[in-house]
Amino acid sequence: MVLADYRFKGVAPRMTEDQFWGELRLNRSPVPEADARKVYRHAVARQTSPECLLGMFWKESRYGTDPAAICVSDNGGLGPTRSWGNTTEPSFGAPTLGAPFVRGRFTRYPTWADGGIATIERLWQHKPYDGKLTVREIVPVWAPPSENATAAYATTVLAVAERLIAAAPAPPPSQEIAPWIAIASGHHNSDGGNPDEAVTTGRMAGALSVEIARLGMHAWVAQGDGPDADTLPGDANFPGGIWDVAAAVVAEDKAKHFPVFIELHTQGVGDTKVRGVFGIYPDRPDVGDVDADARDTLIPMLVGTFAQYTKIPIWNGGVMSERSTGVGLEGFRLGIFNKTAPIRDHCTRVILEMGAHSNPQDFAIHRTDAFYSAGARAIAEAIAAFVGWEGGGPSVPVIYRWWEELWQTA
Ligand SMILES: [Zn+2]
Repeated sequence: MVLADYRFKGVAPRMTEDQFWGELRLNRSPVPEADARKVYRHAVARQTSPECLLGMFWKESRYGTDPAAICVSDNGGLGPTRSWGNTTEPSFGAPTLGAPFVRGRFTRYPTWADGGIATIERLWQHKPYDGKLTVREIVPVWAPPSENATAAYATTVLAVAERLIAAAPAPPPSQEIAPWIAIASGHHNSDGGNPDEAVTTGRMAGALSVEIARLGMHAWVAQGDGPDADTLPGDANFPGGIWDVAAAVVAEDKAKHFPVFIELHTQGVGDTKVRGVFGIYPDRPDVGDVDADARDTLIPMLVGTFAQYTKIPIWNGGVMSERSTGVGLEGFRLGIFNKTAPIRDHCTRVILEMGAHSNPQDFAIHRTDAFYSAGARAIAEAIAAFVGWEGGGPSVPVIYRWWEELWQTA
C-alpha cells in the first residue's frame, strides 16, 4: 500500500495502543509505559493519528533517543524539554516546568506524557494549523523550509505511519451484541442538493461513525469514503438517488437490524435569520407510519445534546412532522421515510437538520473543526441513550475493528 498522503487530524487510529507502546519500547525510547498509553489515548480522543504522531516523534528525536535533541539533552543544566514534537510556547494547557525556556522559546514539560499531549494540542489549537489536516498540509508549517528539509520530513513521517499501519495486528472477531446504527449523509447521492450542505453532512457522517464506534456500537454508513485524504466514510456520493439510499438501508437491515436510522442535513431557507437544529419524524397516519418514539424521545434527545455541545440553538421546539416540511404537504412522503417504512416496526428513523447553512452564524460553526467532534459526540451519545446502550466505554480494540471492517471495504 502506497500512501501519497495521510490524514494527521480528524481520523481514527489505525494502530493499537499496545502496538504504540511496543514501538517505543522496541526502540529504547525513554517514554515510560504509562505515559505512552496516556498519549495514545489523548491522540485517539482528539482524532489525531497516533501513527503520524510517532512519525513526527521519530523524525524529531528518534523517539527521544537522540542525545543532541532538545527534548533529550540536558540543555546546559536546564534539563530536557520532553516534547515529542520539540514544540515551542505556548503549551496549550499541558503542565510545564515554567521559565526559563530552553533556547528562549522551547517549553519544558515535567513528564513525557505532558510533552506528547502538548504536541497533539498544538496541531489543533495553534492558529497556523487551522484547516490543515494531512501530513503534507501540516509539515510545511511545522517544519518550514527555512529550518528543515520539509519534503524529506513529510516523507519520513508518512513512511513511519505506513510501516506501523502495515504491521497492525489482525482485528479481533466480530461482536454480535452491540447495536448497528445506520447513517446517511444528506445529498451525497445522484439527486444532488446544496453543495455547502453536502460538505457538512459528508464530514459529519464520518465523524459520527467514529463516535458511534468509540461508544462501542457499530456504524453502517450508506456512503463510502470520498476523494479526500482521509479514510472516513460518508463523503462519497451514493451510486443512485435518495430512494436507492433508503433501499440500501432496508437491504442492510436484514442482517444488522438497525434500531436507529439517521439521515443528516442542514437547512436552507430564504430568511437568513432563521437558524437552529431540529429533527423530522415519520408522520403519515394514513399509511400507519407515525413514529412516536422519534417524535417524543429520540429527536428531543438529539437536538438537546446537539444544541448543548455545538452552541447551535434549537429551532422552533426542535421537532417537526414530515408533513410540515412542504414535501409532505404536497401529498408526497419524504422519500427516505417512504422507502424505509418496511423496517418501521423495529427501527426509529429520523432526519436531523444540524442548523441552517443559509444562516451566517450556523454556517460559520459548520466550518469549524470543533463542530464535527462536538456534533458527532452529541448525536452518538443521544443515540446510545435512546437505545439504552451502556455496554462500551471508549474502547480502542472496538474502534480498530470497526475501521478494519468498514474502511477497507468502503
Ligand atoms: Zn438537505
